[in-house]
Amino acid sequence: MDSSSGAGPSDPSGGEGPSSATVGGGRSEEGASTAAAQPPPPSRYESQKRRDWNTFLQYLKNHKPPLTLAHCSGAHVIEFLKYLDQFGKTKVHVTGCPYFGHPNPPAACACPLKQAWGSLDALIGRLRAAYEENGGRPESNPFGARAVRIYLREVKEGQAKARGVPYEKKKRKRPTTAATVVLEATTTATQVAAGGGGSGGGGGGEGSSDVVPPTTETV
Ligand SMILES: [Zn+2]
Repeated sequence: MDSSSGAGPSDPSGGEGPSSATVGGGRSEEGASTAAAQPPPPSRYESQKRRDWNTFLQYLKNHKPPLTLAHCSGAHVIEFLKYLDQFGKTKVHVTGCPYFGHPNPPAACACPLKQAWGSLDALIGRLRAAYEENGGRPESNPFGARAVRIYLREVKEGQAKARGVPYEKKKRKRPTTAATVVLEATTTATQVAAGGGGSGGGGGGEGSSDVVPPTTETV
């Protein structure tokens, strides 16, 4: 009952009422509540997921013949993943290459650069979640299609052989990609925690960061 007086007894300038709020940092309370009302900045995973989702929608838009999300199947998702290979940074040796199976080739070769399996796997996890967050039904989620899972497994096994990189052991760290590997691992962990899960499981931390091509294709 000691606070029944209303005006704060501990506040010497309280007598002036509202006008005292304009003095010095008096508005800080107001400012703080405004800041709290704003949504927190999206996490790295969330913003990456949004970016991936927009890239995929853009891909559908540019698709010939035009493709809507409702008609998108696992086969289209695989097509999308193959399309992304042109932006890849991971050397995947063909079987005829002398460095096939060499994790650290002594010289350059003409083999193509592709998306690393770990990047694709994480990407599919994010897109799968984004699809359902945008109103898609889990039963019809093309990113969860069996064909996509099979494709990812083939990529994983193929790259493991071609690059001499066993994804099961994550010990191999190349200095140039060390930072990326940590980030990728974090992303994967978040993705699993967020319930995306499913697609593949272990490994996950290999490869280059930018799965998504630069968004300059708004033609
Ligand atoms: Zn090669």
